Amino acid sequence: MATILLAGGAGYIGSHTAVALLNAGYDVVIADNFANSSPEAVRRVERITGKQVRLYEADCRDNARLAQIFRENSIDAVIHFAGLKAVGESVAYPVRYYRNNIDTTLSLLETMADAGVKRILFSSSATVYGEENPIPYLETMPRGVCTNPYGWTKAMMEQIFEDAAKADPSLSVVLLRYFNPIGAHPSGLIGEDPQGIPNNLMPYVTQVAIGKRECLTVFGNDYDTKDGTCGRDYIHVMDLAEGHLKAIGYILQHSGVEVFNLGTGTPVSVKELVETFEAVNGVQIRRIYGGRRAGDLPEYYANADKALAMLGWKTERSLADACRDAWNWQKQNPNGYRGVET
Ligand code: NAD
Ligand code: UDP
Repeated sequence: MATILLAGGAGYIGSHTAVALLNAGYDVVIADNFANSSPEAVRRVERITGKQVRLYEADCRDNARLAQIFRENSIDAVIHFAGLKAVGESVAYPVRYYRNNIDTTLSLLETMADAGVKRILFSSSATVYGEENPIPYLETMPRGVCTNPYGWTKAMMEQIFEDAAKADPSLSVVLLRYFNPIGAHPSGLIGEDPQGIPNNLMPYVTQVAIGKRECLTVFGNDYDTKDGTCGRDYIHVMDLAEGHLKAIGYILQHSGVEVFNLGTGTPVSVKELVETFEAVNGVQIRRIYGGRRAGDLPEYYANADKALAMLGWKTERSLADACRDAWNWQKQNPNGYRGVET
């Protein structure tokens, strides 16, 4: 079975993808500098799967360290999760975001070329569609104007991959545009572990539920949507992980560049998500309606037909499943991975 290098694989999506890959029989190597994660997540992946991961503490901007990893392992494909992802922080510290996110990509491409590794999946985002494209988003639409530096790093990295693949036809690239990942592995052993005040909706909701935050502020209820709150395409992180599994199967057989949306194809409003969370888990979420958050679009969601047609992938889990699994993770790990002996 093939060996897959997960750059940034100790993080939220990487750890769940590692579970899916290991369960399918792949060997997994993880390189992460733990800028936003903990080695404990990798130990838990091993516990869930009963399999071993080869873990390197490594900054993926460090070509010498990456070259060592490629030397010590026979890597068949790379999944590039490594990056900083907080939208607000990217506005405050744009240079840090450009430096980290673009450099990880360049270093991976350089060291892959030296090592003769030709296949890479990249964690892109629905944010690259910008503000101009009509919904639902289709892979054939042009990238739009992004509203923040984080989004621009994703758009720029997509361009870098496309140019690199054009220059080297033996390089295979799959750009995966994620919509809104939520939920956790059903074991409750791994999940989303934000540092400080969560920016994203689901971890904020679970922290209100457990009493760490007093009240959720719903950002805007005067949008032109079904109930006035924003609509997003929330995808269970294990469905997303299985999308990577399918994409790895694809890239091991095909060359060139392909782009896939990974989403459910259905928008869910903030109000619906919070009400589903309450109903499924039997808890109350204190909430107030506040003003709109700068840069938020009223509604967007995926057209996910291409992933079904070419990868044979579609989401299998419901919003209720994601709400239950997110709460299970939060209850079992009130402080995330912190405070755990490593
Ligand atoms: P995460 O922060 O949990 O994982 C990213 C991982 O990359 C972390 O473990 C972090 O320590 C590591 N990392 C960062 N810079 C690094 C560096 N220089 N060297 C080595 N490791 C480094 O985030 P996530 O939610 O798992 O996201 C994974 C990828 O998917 C990111 O690229 C993110 O931008 C992208 N993405 C995430 C979402 C989302 O909502 N979670 C949506 C779209 C795209
Ligand atoms: N949201 C909210 N309160 C919060 C966090 C988010 O109402 O404390 C809303 C936000 O306005 C958006 C949706 O929840 O409509 C999803 O936001 P998130 O930051 O999770 O994802 P993104 O903005 O990247 O789609």
